[in-house]
Amino acid sequence: MLIRLIYASRMASGVDSRHVRDILAASQRNNRSRGVTGVLLFNSGYFLQWLEGGRGAVNERFRAIGGDGRHREAEILCYEAVPNRAFSGWTMGYAGEAGMNAELLFRYTEDTVFDPFTLTAEAAVALVRELAGTSLTMTPA
Ligand code: FAD
Repeated sequence: MLIRLIYASRMASGVDSRHVRDILAASQRNNRSRGVTGVLLFNSGYFLQWLEGGRGAVNERFRAIGGDGRHREAEILCYEAVPNRAFSGWTMGYAGEAGMNAELLFRYTEDTVFDPFTLTAEAAVALVRELAGTSLTMTPA
């Protein structure tokens, strides 16, 4: 059984691009052995992460991630069984500010600011899917 979990969180104070690199490296290292794949977005002080994989593996990773001091207020936007992975080739793909232009954000938000706490589950899924078509990398710029 495959699960998709999407959550939003706020960057903790003092977090910078070096921390995001560390997070991404640990994610890719740890997710591979657990069969977890997905995407991490980071922009305007917010994270949005899509995790997919077996239910036990996704739940276990989310518990570990939720206790990480580099972000806070992790809030689940979407948790559901899915028939297939969307990101089977990505132990953790990444898109940051550079990948999100104002026109794209305006389509999913009330203005052009990336604030994932305002997204419905459907909008979060659609936004990540659209970004993934053009902007995913394995390491932040
Ligand atoms: P290390 O990376 O070596 O870290 C050791 C410990 O120190 C961990 O407990 C870590 O939480 C903590 N730590 C390290 N640096 C800092 C710091 N600067 N501030 C506070 N605590 C710190 N992990 C995954 O496995 N998969 C994911 O998909 C994933 N996504 C993440 C998304 C976000 C937004 C964040 C903030 C973290 C994410 N992580 C993810 C990291 C996860 O929370 C753990 O830090 C990581 O899995 C631990 O890896 P490690 O055992 O190799 O330890």
